[in-house]
Amino acid sequence: MIVGVPSEIKSDEYRVAMIPVGVEELTRAGHKVLVQAGAGTGSGISDERYAESGAEIVPDAATIWKRSEMIIKVKEPLSDEWPSMQAGQVVFTYFHFAADEKLTRAVLESGITAIAYETIKDVRGNLPLLTPMSEVAGRMSIQEGAKYLERPFQGRGILLSGIPGVPPAEVVVLGGGIVGANAAKMAAGLGANVTLLDINLDRLRYLDDVMPKNVTTVFSDRHNILKALAQADLVIGAVLIPGARTPMLVRREDLKKMPHRAVIIDVAIDQGGCIETSRPTTHAHPTYIVDDIVHYCVTNMPGAVGRTSTYGLTNVTLPYALQLANKGVEKASRDNIALAQGINIHQGRVTNQAVAETFKLGY
Ligand code: NAD
Repeated sequence: MIVGVPSEIKSDEYRVAMIPVGVEELTRAGHKVLVQAGAGTGSGISDERYAESGAEIVPDAATIWKRSEMIIKVKEPLSDEWPSMQAGQVVFTYFHFAADEKLTRAVLESGITAIAYETIKDVRGNLPLLTPMSEVAGRMSIQEGAKYLERPFQGRGILLSGIPGVPPAEVVVLGGGIVGANAAKMAAGLGANVTLLDINLDRLRYLDDVMPKNVTTVFSDRHNILKALAQADLVIGAVLIPGARTPMLVRREDLKKMPHRAVIIDVAIDQGGCIETSRPTTHAHPTYIVDDIVHYCVTNMPGAVGRTSTYGLTNVTLPYALQLANKGVEKASRDNIALAQGINIHQGRVTNQAVAETFKLGY
């Protein structure tokens, strides 16, 4: 099979869908890999490294799309890329169809098979191709929070760890899933006092077992959230209800009860955010202030640490890419139920119930 890896064209996106070891493995299995010149630059991977691993470096995206039977990407195809999609081609990437009707219709019309990273689901119900990005965002949220707490970045001028004789910062993490657990671990490692809230008691029991002593688990209800906010220097929004809009846990009036120039990092912003005053921001302009509280609501946090994110993502995508290349879509999805769940659109037909229901399309 000919597999194509174009450069990502979305702004602030520095990831690439394949690293040199992926090229090597596909080539060893008898496939040909085309990599667009410069595709790895944002992740610090040169064309030479890809070429050494067996890739053919192709100067432009149009040629990659034209020659490839399977395209592997990171972000959904943007409107500039839609005319390049060809009937019968497999496109393996994040699509997030339910958030974009125009994309859904363009993909339906194109006749491609769209396999979405975000709906690949393993037997335990986990979403393995989302997990590494949540790990990145969770860990990064503390790094960003620490930075925006600094006075020159308009924060309240607090060092997360404190120092001998000066207490550490209070960090409140709303949601104890992948993002929340990674955020709590990072903040605790830096010496902050961490309060981790969730509604899932089994999850809280587990977190209580594995987290260090400076992490306190608390059941997430309105009373406990308000109590935690009153002390919070840094709040991390990490709540998710799969398939639904994020619940609004912090209202605008609550901001007045928080310390001035505290920082909120609403990681859950990509699903609407869990703070009433959150609105999406970019890496170029990541923060804004409402009622004296600094808000950071970047929707694609992992993009900023492209190298780590690329390696984290490709660790989990490569096994599926190999199965697709070796067996073709039909056999690969028969043999692997997790992969089958990734197929959202197949040659003009919606094959994912949620996408069909969202846009009232045939399923
Ligand atoms: P997850 O499913 O692992 O965890 C979500 C947690 O929220 C669960 O433990 C759940 O019990 C808890 N929860 C649900 N309702 C709650 C409530 N009322 N109070 C407290 N906790 C509650 O999800 P995740 O992988 O950790 O992702 C969290 C969010 O981060 C998602 O919206 C995800 O899309 C987003 N995310 C954003 C970025 C970014 O760049 N901004 C990157 C990765 C993930």
